[in-house]
Amino acid sequence: MIKRPIQCDNMNHRRSDAPVSHCPQCGGVVNERRVGSRCEEVSHALARRRQSTFCVNCGERLIAAV
Ligand SMILES: [Zn+2]
Ligand SMILES: [Zn+2]
Repeated sequence: MIKRPIQCDNMNHRRSDAPVSHCPQCGGVVNERRVGSRCEEVSHALARRRQSTFCVNCGERLIAAV
């Protein structure tokens, strides 16, 4: 099985115990054990303000691609 190479330089991809479940830059899963809970819209609003392209909790895209 060939894994797609990660085109993302976010450090969470290199951690075995990332503090978040998804990468804020590419939306990929970085820690499967943390995947699960759904988000409140307010936490997405806060994440948008931090310029996160993806939600680190649920992986949803927050900022539309240009
Ligand atoms: Zn990433
Ligand atoms: Zn979310």
